[in-house]
Amino acid sequence: SKVRIYTLAKDLSVDNQKLLEILDSLGVSYKSVSSTLDEDTVDAIKGILAEESAATPSAPTDSQAASQTPAESTAAPQLQSAPPTPHHKDDVTAPTSNSVPSTAAQAASGQVSSAVAVQEAPPVQAPEIPHRAPVVTIMGHVDHGKTSLLDYIRKTKVAAKEAGGITQHVGAFEAQTSKGRIVFIDTPGHEAFTTIRARGANVADIAIIVVAADDSIMPQTREAIAHAQAAKVPLIVAINKIDLPQADVERVKTDLTSVNLVPEEYGGDTVVVPVSAKTGEGVEDLLEYISLTAELEDLRADPKGEFSGVVIESKVDKQSGVLATVMVQQGTVNVGDFLVVGETYGKIKALMDSAGNRIKSAGPSTPVQVLGFSEAPVSGDKVASASNEHTAREKVSVRVDTRRTVEEARQKRKLSLEEMMGPLNEVREVNLILRADTQGSVEAIQGILAKRETPEVHLNVMLAGIGAPTEGDVLLASTAEATILCFSVVPSGAVKKVADQKEVDLKSFRIIYELIDEVDRLIKGNIEPVF
Ligand code: GDP
Repeated sequence: SKVRIYTLAKDLSVDNQKLLEILDSLGVSYKSVSSTLDEDTVDAIKGILAEESAATPSAPTDSQAASQTPAESTAAPQLQSAPPTPHHKDDVTAPTSNSVPSTAAQAASGQVSSAVAVQEAPPVQAPEIPHRAPVVTIMGHVDHGKTSLLDYIRKTKVAAKEAGGITQHVGAFEAQTSKGRIVFIDTPGHEAFTTIRARGANVADIAIIVVAADDSIMPQTREAIAHAQAAKVPLIVAINKIDLPQADVERVKTDLTSVNLVPEEYGGDTVVVPVSAKTGEGVEDLLEYISLTAELEDLRADPKGEFSGVVIESKVDKQSGVLATVMVQQGTVNVGDFLVVGETYGKIKALMDSAGNRIKSAGPSTPVQVLGFSEAPVSGDKVASASNEHTAREKVSVRVDTRRTVEEARQKRKLSLEEMMGPLNEVREVNLILRADTQGSVEAIQGILAKRETPEVHLNVMLAGIGAPTEGDVLLASTAEATILCFSVVPSGAVKKVADQKEVDLKSFRIIYELIDEVDRLIKGNIEPVF
């Protein structure tokens, strides 16, 4: 029988990271902590752990270790426990991959766990960068339940504000789960795409793709998947609305396979969690999977390091002025600090957590509401801090200089083929987003494109869809430096405008040969680069 990595880790009272290291040393490939292992691998792991514990001074003698495979007797009955349930109800600390095995588990597996715990302490103690909470974004097709799922989590996992009153929407919130803090980004519509990857850096660590069980995969589901993949963030699929009589979870799983997300049950590595935002069923499992994924990602940030953050949302409040939500990514922000954003700066008059409580400072993975900007910053903008006004001004002038230099360089420079496409001896990738009027056209174009590929140039169609390109396409193209090719569909003025702003190449064709010519030009690289 097969066993999942995280289940085995739990049963053997070692952390997931440790098991993954052992798997690496064994040359066993895995995709995530929820990948399954066969019995031989499990035996090999147990053997290695036994050897390690034997080699440790505080560990049992060789004969003891050899005579009893560690934890086998206690672990065996648990191996079948499939869906994760929060076992450590008392564990309210943030997820740490180096977490010491819980007392109960330690007692159950005896000597092994203590020996492993000793093993894990690094011999030379360099100051470790602490773990930070994961930042999660929820994406998916309209009406599939993103808002409802966020609302459910907010209602059940956010400590109610003391003074009563409704918590304002600020673009993010912090949930307290049995596995620690999880930060959810809660921005409307396409802004979710902007915040997943802003200015070249990811804001979100994990993407939840919501798919309604009665509707399955829809165009914006594909779009969301493409965004998560372009940003290279791990994704978890939440199949929502399983309470509905017409819910068909199996169909969604099959459909996922067709977009190359093969659920674990089908032998793939995509984590799929059935949930209901209405009844709350499965939501605990989803949170647990988020924590597991975060643990695997080994997310860390130094609260003592230099502050950096990203604007999640901003608005102008009639009474209090500009109120911006900033995600602290690194370092700590304090009331009284100067914040530099865009090409302006401001002094922080007040800080509030996402629930609206006044706070004095905030560390990594904390969304804070900042009062003190003189004008509303743009979401996605990077924020830096300065301890005094002089430094703040200097930082602003550096930013202005950098922008000017970049602009001048862009005007002057005609990029060489190599600069545009990378070194010539590597396989070059041309990222494309395809939009056409019918499924038939999409497929025909894809077929033609496949034939135009050369050994040196790979055409990567990130997204192919029916209908006019969306703002989401443009954001994806901007993230992935892709070209958008439209066939027999016309981009709206709004979309064209965003493409202009984001300097995304957006081209429309009515004649298929012209589209192919364009692709050939992209392949050859003798096209005037457009920024
Ligand atoms: P969004 O557009 O993805 O944010 O979707 P919403 O959260 O606004 O949900 C769209 C509709 O589906 C609303 O009428 C919700 O009440 C309903 N809905 C969302 N989640 C569930 C669920 O788990 N079960 C049922 N029965 N309805 C749901």
